[in-house]
Amino acid sequence: MNLRNITADKLVALYQNRDLTASEVITSVYDDIERTDKEVHAFLSNCRERALEEARRMDTRIAAGEPLEPLAGVPVAIKDNMTIRDMTTTCGSRILENYVPPYTATAVERLRGAGAIVVGKTNCDEFAMGSSTENSGFFVTRNPHNLDRVPGGSSGGSAASVASGTSLIALGSDTGGSIRTPAAFCGVVGIKPTYGRVSRYGLVAFASSLDQIGPIAKSVRECAQALEVISGFDHFDSTSADTAVPEFVKNLDQPIKGIRIGIPKEYFVAGLDAEVRTKIEAGMRIYEDLGCELHEISLPHTEYAIATYYLIATAEASSNLARYDGVRYGLREAADSSLQEMYRRTRHHGFGQEVKRRILLGTYALSAGYYDAYYLKALKVRTLILRDFQKAFEQVDIILAPTSPTVAFKIGEKTGDPLSMYLSDIFTITQPLAGIPAISVPCGKNSENLPIGLQLMANHFQEGLLLGVAHHFEKAGGFVV
Ligand code: GLN
Repeated sequence: MNLRNITADKLVALYQNRDLTASEVITSVYDDIERTDKEVHAFLSNCRERALEEARRMDTRIAAGEPLEPLAGVPVAIKDNMTIRDMTTTCGSRILENYVPPYTATAVERLRGAGAIVVGKTNCDEFAMGSSTENSGFFVTRNPHNLDRVPGGSSGGSAASVASGTSLIALGSDTGGSIRTPAAFCGVVGIKPTYGRVSRYGLVAFASSLDQIGPIAKSVRECAQALEVISGFDHFDSTSADTAVPEFVKNLDQPIKGIRIGIPKEYFVAGLDAEVRTKIEAGMRIYEDLGCELHEISLPHTEYAIATYYLIATAEASSNLARYDGVRYGLREAADSSLQEMYRRTRHHGFGQEVKRRILLGTYALSAGYYDAYYLKALKVRTLILRDFQKAFEQVDIILAPTSPTVAFKIGEKTGDPLSMYLSDIFTITQPLAGIPAISVPCGKNSENLPIGLQLMANHFQEGLLLGVAHHFEKAGGFVV
């Protein structure tokens, strides 16, 4: 049993026909984790006993001929910045190394409600700050396609787990690309939903106005299935949208002939790797062959996106991370002299370099005298970026672009230069700023056999259209498992 060759829907069908038991599958997942995760390092922790217990219960129900939920017995992995009661939630940070939350994130609860079995928590950049998973406070996750390369980040463990076959679906979170970049680098599918589509309850906050949970899987269909399950209003999250959740899976095959696809000229500029460009252009041809219309469009404020994002995200982070003071959560360092010293020592030892850098940047941007020049200005530019998209969606239904300007880079290549790491997010920053949904789908590999991701974006709450357009692409391009 190798999960790399099967999808969730096929697995459930095998259960239904009694060709396989959930216990066999979960046992083999842990065998695979033992074998491959020594090299890939996708997981921070696992929950073998509990997962096997859930599998046995599932098998009893299967044997009794009970109707099965859509994700019955499907092994899933959860990024370690989402809470699960009685399991550590570290956020990839030493400051939360021993933090065991008393509640479970709504998205995880809903996956479980649909029959999924959580097999473990996955590695990520500390507090989801990063693009490569190298900022984890514990260890670096490696790209299953090439162990010298990064898996992307910050949800690198989730994407690497799916790509190496140690889970079928994994949850990630995306604030500025953290679902889509790892999906692209690891050759799998990842969708960042509309802001508000999925409850953030139990997602440890990085930048609350940008953060969104979404699924990563090998196929669009599995992402659609998982998204359908985790979406919808939740009274525990006041920013979750009270909007009906369409039947994403049922509508995947809706015809896409005549769909207007915008190609933003600002995304095809210097810095875009030549092989990535070639594959994305080949992707455009596939859409033309499918009867879609391509139109060049402009998103003129794209050039301000990185600066805007790194002001807003750091400002929100500096405020959100103030709670890790050694009193209520996780690590507390001893101090002899004063409470101040305890705070200082705890934060000094608990946080890594990148997190400290962001807290400093954000505190600066919010401080009296600088607030108007930096934070307020960034909020105004954010509105301009949103308007770019609103105008574009008057002309087109979908926007197509690369997910990342390059393929997975080498481990260590960008760690010495934070700015070059920030710049690698150029294509995945604007969508969270505008709150729109976006998906990354595989569109081939480069000459070194490294995966390339094609990104599609849609207007708010148009995930149904987005998934359908992506699904037709993977079928037509032969990018299906
Ligand atoms: N790479 C971006 C950052 O470092 C985005 C991270 C994310 O989406 N969580 O902030």
